[in-house]
Amino acid sequence: MSDDDSEDTIFHKIMRKEISSKFLYEDDDLFVIRDITPAGPIHLLVIPKKTIPTANALTPADDALVGKMVRVARDLAEENGVSESGYRLVMNCGEDGGQTVYQLHLHMIGGRGLHWPPG
Ligand code: 5GP
Repeated sequence: MSDDDSEDTIFHKIMRKEISSKFLYEDDDLFVIRDITPAGPIHLLVIPKKTIPTANALTPADDALVGKMVRVARDLAEENGVSESGYRLVMNCGEDGGQTVYQLHLHMIGGRGLHWPPG
């Protein structure tokens, strides 16, 4: 693990508009961008504005926020036309989980058949 409580991750810089990235959705709690290295035709990242390095740092106070992340991902799946074909929601945690950016985020990947486990 690294960057505990860091407000200097790439996602914080994007949130502060220090690095340009198109926001597909934004409200007081979270924002959504396209993944720079998409794993499928649709690959969005739902990112909370509150600093939360990993799923390990979640508390009961974050329950509504995490629920909203999933609901917004669902809405964007519908907007992007993959609701019926299906999509994958993934939250990587820590090194073995493949997490590379230590600010919580939910991947929404769709638009092609996805195999499990991933290669
Ligand atoms: P993780 O591996 O931590 O679950 O996911 C981090 C994701 O952030 C990766 O899929 C990676 O492609 C994406 N990413 C890393 N840097 C940037 C960036 O500068 N802009 C965008 N839009 N995505 C990024």
